[in-house]
Amino acid sequence: MTIAYIGLGSNLEDPAHQIQLAVDAIATIPESKINTVSSLFFSRPMGPQDQPDYMNAVVALETSLAPLALLDALQTIEKDAGRVRKGERWGPRILDLDILLFGDDIINNERLIVPHYGMKEREFVLIPLFEIAPDLTLPDDSKLSTLRNNINDNGLKIHSKLRYA
Ligand code: ATP
Ligand code: CA
Ligand code: CA
Ligand code: CA
Repeated sequence: MTIAYIGLGSNLEDPAHQIQLAVDAIATIPESKINTVSSLFFSRPMGPQDQPDYMNAVVALETSLAPLALLDALQTIEKDAGRVRKGERWGPRILDLDILLFGDDIINNERLIVPHYGMKEREFVLIPLFEIAPDLTLPDDSKLSTLRNNINDNGLKIHSKLRYA
Protein backbone atom coordinates (compact mmCIF):
# COMPACT_ATOMS: atom_id res chain seq x y z
CA MET A 1 0.00 0.00 0.00
CA THR A 2 1.12 3.52 -0.82
CA ILE A 3 -0.19 6.84 0.43
CA ALA A 4 -1.06 9.08 -2.49
CA TYR A 5 -1.97 12.72 -1.93
CA ILE A 6 -4.54 14.08 -4.36
CA GLY A 7 -5.23 17.77 -4.93
CA LEU A 8 -8.84 18.69 -5.74
CA GLY A 9 -10.00 21.95 -7.32
CA SER A 10 -13.20 23.39 -8.79
CA ASN A 11 -14.52 26.82 -9.75
CA LEU A 12 -17.69 26.07 -11.71
CA GLU A 13 -21.21 24.78 -11.00
CA ASP A 14 -21.26 24.94 -7.21
CA PRO A 15 -17.59 24.24 -6.47
CA ALA A 16 -18.15 23.21 -2.83
CA HIS A 17 -20.66 20.61 -3.98
CA GLN A 18 -18.33 19.44 -6.78
CA ILE A 19 -15.51 18.87 -4.29
CA GLN A 20 -17.79 16.92 -1.95
CA LEU A 21 -18.99 14.76 -4.88
CA ALA A 22 -15.37 14.19 -5.88
CA VAL A 23 -14.46 13.03 -2.35
CA ASP A 24 -17.43 10.63 -2.47
CA ALA A 25 -16.23 9.34 -5.87
CA ILE A 26 -12.62 8.97 -4.70
CA ALA A 27 -13.96 6.82 -1.83
CA THR A 28 -15.16 4.29 -4.45
CA ILE A 29 -11.80 3.88 -6.26
CA PRO A 30 -10.88 0.16 -6.17
CA GLU A 31 -7.99 -1.17 -4.07
CA SER A 32 -7.99 2.12 -2.18
CA LYS A 33 -9.20 3.71 1.01
CA ILE A 34 -9.38 7.36 2.07
CA ASN A 35 -7.16 8.04 5.07
CA THR A 36 -7.74 11.75 5.62
CA VAL A 37 -9.43 14.70 3.95
CA SER A 38 -8.42 18.33 4.51
CA SER A 39 -10.84 21.14 5.14
CA LEU A 40 -12.43 22.74 2.12
CA PHE A 41 -10.60 25.98 1.26
CA PHE A 42 -11.52 29.07 -0.80
CA SER A 43 -8.70 30.27 -3.03
CA ARG A 44 -7.96 32.89 -5.66
CA PRO A 45 -7.50 31.69 -9.24
CA MET A 46 -4.05 31.03 -10.61
CA GLY A 47 -3.35 32.36 -14.11
CA PRO A 48 -6.34 34.01 -15.84
CA GLN A 49 -8.07 36.28 -13.28
CA ASP A 50 -11.35 36.64 -15.24
CA GLN A 51 -12.80 33.50 -13.68
CA PRO A 52 -14.57 32.62 -10.41
CA ASP A 53 -12.69 31.85 -7.17
CA TYR A 54 -11.80 28.22 -6.49
CA MET A 55 -12.53 25.64 -3.85
CA ASN A 56 -9.64 23.30 -3.04
CA ALA A 57 -8.91 20.36 -0.80
CA VAL A 58 -6.37 17.54 -0.46
CA VAL A 59 -7.14 13.87 0.12
CA ALA A 60 -4.73 11.23 1.47
CA LEU A 61 -5.58 7.95 -0.26
CA GLU A 62 -4.09 4.61 0.74
CA THR A 63 -3.90 2.57 -2.46
CA SER A 64 -2.42 -0.55 -3.99
CA LEU A 65 -3.16 0.70 -7.52
CA ALA A 66 -0.25 1.54 -9.80
CA PRO A 67 0.21 5.30 -10.33
CA LEU A 68 -1.19 5.30 -13.90
CA ALA A 69 -4.20 3.24 -12.82
CA LEU A 70 -4.87 5.85 -10.14
CA LEU A 71 -4.55 8.62 -12.76
CA ASP A 72 -7.05 6.75 -14.98
CA ALA A 73 -9.51 6.53 -12.08
CA LEU A 74 -9.13 10.24 -11.30
CA GLN A 75 -9.54 11.27 -14.95
CA THR A 76 -12.72 9.16 -15.15
CA ILE A 77 -14.08 11.03 -12.12
CA GLU A 78 -13.21 14.40 -13.76
CA LYS A 79 -14.97 13.35 -16.94
CA ASP A 80 -18.04 12.05 -15.09
CA ALA A 81 -18.25 15.42 -13.29
CA GLY A 82 -18.66 16.99 -16.73
CA ARG A 83 -15.21 18.48 -17.21
CA VAL A 84 -14.69 19.68 -20.75
CA ARG A 85 -11.10 20.34 -21.81
CA LYS A 86 -10.77 23.78 -23.42
CA GLY A 87 -7.69 25.38 -24.93
CA GLU A 88 -6.97 27.89 -22.18
CA ARG A 89 -4.33 26.88 -19.64
CA TRP A 90 -5.51 27.15 -16.03
CA GLY A 91 -8.97 28.22 -17.21
CA PRO A 92 -12.19 27.55 -15.26
CA ARG A 93 -13.12 23.91 -14.60
CA ILE A 94 -15.79 21.84 -12.89
CA LEU A 95 -13.23 19.49 -11.38
CA ASP A 96 -9.46 19.07 -11.39
CA LEU A 97 -7.81 16.10 -9.66
CA ASP A 98 -4.01 16.09 -9.54
CA ILE A 99 -1.72 13.46 -8.05
CA LEU A 100 0.55 15.53 -5.81
CA LEU A 101 2.60 12.71 -4.30
CA PHE A 102 2.64 8.95 -4.66
CA GLY A 103 4.55 7.73 -1.64
CA ASP A 104 8.20 8.56 -2.24
CA ASP A 105 7.94 7.73 -5.94
CA ILE A 106 9.48 9.98 -8.56
CA ILE A 107 7.60 9.51 -11.82
CA ASN A 108 8.33 11.18 -15.15
CA ASN A 109 6.37 9.88 -18.07
CA GLU A 110 4.19 11.31 -20.82
CA ARG A 111 1.03 11.25 -18.76
CA LEU A 112 2.26 11.64 -15.23
CA ILE A 113 4.84 13.73 -13.41
CA VAL A 114 5.08 13.12 -9.65
CA PRO A 115 5.68 14.98 -7.38
CA HIS A 116 3.32 17.41 -9.13
CA TYR A 117 5.59 20.02 -10.75
CA GLY A 118 3.74 23.03 -9.29
CA MET A 119 2.93 21.87 -5.77
CA LYS A 120 5.77 23.72 -4.01
CA GLU A 121 4.62 27.09 -5.36
CA ARG A 122 0.87 26.71 -4.78
CA GLU A 123 -0.63 27.83 -1.47
CA PHE A 124 -3.91 26.03 -2.28
CA VAL A 125 -1.91 22.78 -2.32
CA LEU A 126 0.64 23.31 0.45
CA ILE A 127 -1.74 24.66 3.09
CA PRO A 128 -4.41 21.90 2.86
CA LEU A 129 -1.65 19.29 2.58
CA PHE A 130 0.06 20.69 5.67
CA GLU A 131 -3.25 20.54 7.54
CA ILE A 132 -3.47 16.75 7.08
CA ALA A 133 0.24 15.80 6.94
CA PRO A 134 2.30 18.38 8.88
CA ASP A 135 5.30 16.06 9.26
CA LEU A 136 5.59 15.14 5.58
CA THR A 137 8.94 15.17 3.81
CA LEU A 138 8.98 15.27 0.00
CA PRO A 139 11.03 12.82 -2.11
CA ASP A 140 13.69 15.54 -2.58
CA ASP A 141 13.99 15.72 1.25
CA SER A 142 12.36 19.15 1.49
CA LYS A 143 10.13 19.52 4.53
CA LEU A 144 6.50 20.40 3.96
CA SER A 145 6.53 22.56 7.12
CA THR A 146 9.32 24.74 5.66
CA LEU A 147 7.55 25.10 2.32
CA ARG A 148 4.31 25.97 4.09
CA ASN A 149 5.96 28.56 6.35
CA ASN A 150 7.48 30.31 3.36
CA ILE A 151 4.42 30.45 1.11
CA ASN A 152 2.21 33.55 0.83
CA ASP A 153 -1.34 32.45 1.64
CA ASN A 154 -2.78 34.64 -1.16
CA GLY A 155 -6.00 35.07 0.84
CA LEU A 156 -6.65 31.32 1.21
CA LYS A 157 -9.47 30.70 3.74
CA ILE A 158 -11.09 27.65 5.29
CA HIS A 159 -14.65 27.38 4.00
CA SER A 160 -16.05 24.26 5.70
CA LYS A 161 -15.46 20.61 6.50
CA LEU A 162 -15.86 17.77 4.01
CA ARG A 163 -17.59 14.48 4.75
CA TYR A 164 -15.93 11.17 3.98
CA ALA A 165 -16.62 7.53 4.64
P1 ATP B 1 -1.52 21.97 -13.75
O1 ATP B 1 -0.95 20.65 -14.20
O2 ATP B 1 -0.57 23.13 -13.91
O3 ATP B 1 -2.11 21.91 -12.37
P2 ATP B 1 -4.04 21.46 -14.98
O4 ATP B 1 -4.29 20.63 -13.77
O5 ATP B 1 -5.09 22.44 -15.39
O6 ATP B 1 -2.68 22.29 -14.78
P3 ATP B 1 -4.75 19.47 -16.80
O7 ATP B 1 -5.29 19.99 -18.09
O8 ATP B 1 -5.73 19.01 -15.77
O9 ATP B 1 -3.72 20.52 -16.20
O10 ATP B 1 -3.82 18.20 -17.07
C1 ATP B 1 -3.02 18.07 -18.21
C2 ATP B 1 -2.30 16.71 -18.17
O11 ATP B 1 -1.37 16.66 -17.10
C3 ATP B 1 -3.17 15.50 -17.91
O12 ATP B 1 -3.74 15.01 -19.10
C4 ATP B 1 -2.22 14.47 -17.27
O13 ATP B 1 -1.88 13.41 -18.13
C5 ATP B 1 -0.97 15.30 -16.99
N1 ATP B 1 -0.35 15.11 -15.67
C6 ATP B 1 1.00 15.09 -15.48
N2 ATP B 1 1.29 14.92 -14.19
C7 ATP B 1 0.11 14.85 -13.51
C8 ATP B 1 -0.22 14.68 -12.15
N3 ATP B 1 0.75 14.56 -11.21
N4 ATP B 1 -1.53 14.63 -11.80
C9 ATP B 1 -2.49 14.75 -12.76
N5 ATP B 1 -2.24 14.91 -14.09
C10 ATP B 1 -0.94 14.96 -14.47
CA1 CA C 1 -10.11 33.81 -19.68
CA1 CA D 1 -4.09 21.28 -11.55
CA1 CA E 1 -5.01 18.42 -13.62
